[in-house]
Amino acid sequence: MEKSGNATHLRCDDCGSEFDLRQIVSLCPKCGGLLEVCYDLEGLKKSSHLFSEYVRDSIWRYRDFFPRVQDKNIVSLGEGGTPLVKSVSLGPSLGLDNLYFKNDTLMPTGSFKDRGYSLAISYAKELGVTRGVTYSSGNAGASFSAYSVRGNFPGLVMVDSQASATKKSMIMLYGMNATVLNASNFGQIEALIEKSVTELGCYPFVNFVNPIRHEAMKTFAYEIYSELKRMPDYSFHCVGTGGGLWGTWKGYNELAQMGIADRVPRMAAVQPECVNWLERAIESGADAIAPYGDGTKTIAQSINGNSPLQGGKRLLKAVRDSGGMALSVSDEEIKAAMLDLGHEGIAAEPSSASTVAALKKKAKEGLIRSDDLVVCIITGTALKQPKVVEQIASTPKFEIKADIGELRELLGKLGY
Ligand SMILES: [Zn+2]
Repeated sequence: MEKSGNATHLRCDDCGSEFDLRQIVSLCPKCGGLLEVCYDLEGLKKSSHLFSEYVRDSIWRYRDFFPRVQDKNIVSLGEGGTPLVKSVSLGPSLGLDNLYFKNDTLMPTGSFKDRGYSLAISYAKELGVTRGVTYSSGNAGASFSAYSVRGNFPGLVMVDSQASATKKSMIMLYGMNATVLNASNFGQIEALIEKSVTELGCYPFVNFVNPIRHEAMKTFAYEIYSELKRMPDYSFHCVGTGGGLWGTWKGYNELAQMGIADRVPRMAAVQPECVNWLERAIESGADAIAPYGDGTKTIAQSINGNSPLQGGKRLLKAVRDSGGMALSVSDEEIKAAMLDLGHEGIAAEPSSASTVAALKKKAKEGLIRSDDLVVCIITGTALKQPKVVEQIASTPKFEIKADIGELRELLGKLGY
């Protein structure tokens, strides 16, 4: 089998069949299972010097840890290399000395999806893919649109009818072909994507069905480890399909397998209460996740799918193998966490703030120790859901005329 840089082959999660990376393939052609990129560990070790210092750069700094892409096919907008911001107010108020926010609101299209799409579009060009489709609740669609258009890659976004008007407009702003997709549950969407592959020969860009996208999420682990010079104790992620959590988990594990880190963090997966299928499956000890809930009942629009892809086995594995947690939060808790993040200087969309809401609950229950190092991944900007921001953030309390006396009086009242 032909190697692709340090990547050696694709392997099916379910039947173990192996496939050449140069083959245009998404789900396992033999059994329909999910494919995972496998690497030559000794080859990866040759690039381990990359983790001895943190250089704020794009995800392509770590290209030795992806399947190989020639320079001419790389489509990049400077994604990755986002700030790891230490908490100055929430952490101390919870008694946590080491709380950090990985601020991916600053990505080119305003969400962490850009990491995955930069790599996935680049790799699709490398393979010579001629027709790509994706489903999106909004953020992924904007990212797919921006990277496809820049890379002159032919694709179609099917955007969830429930996505905010802003999210739909962002997709169109970048100039991509898009359609609104009406479906009553995530199972229907999953079936449509799978048939688009088997019956129409499309190359899909949905997390996991596309075997490459989550490889870029490993860069969360690489950046966090390189900057902190140690592993976090907890890594908090909001979970829709779970590509971010799974990819980050894979990255942490590679660091441990290369002997760079001596352990891996506990993975904390967070969902809205109304669709907490992962929490229910973890609590009941299930081997696969059943669809559950109604995603229209939460403001956390990016993570409101009512079922995972292919039974969510990867998510169950990451949470269980890491000794982690599956958690859920209410909309009220999410709104409070958005304000907490605002007071840290970070404007996060509801889904991202769910991680902070869940952390607060666990810290108050005494589950997190004061010296534990905790990282919450903040995946997308509040500007994607401006109506929620208007609801939760009050308008200014004071009003003055253009009069120096009134300004002096107000400053005095504020104690400045
Ligand atoms: Zn298979």
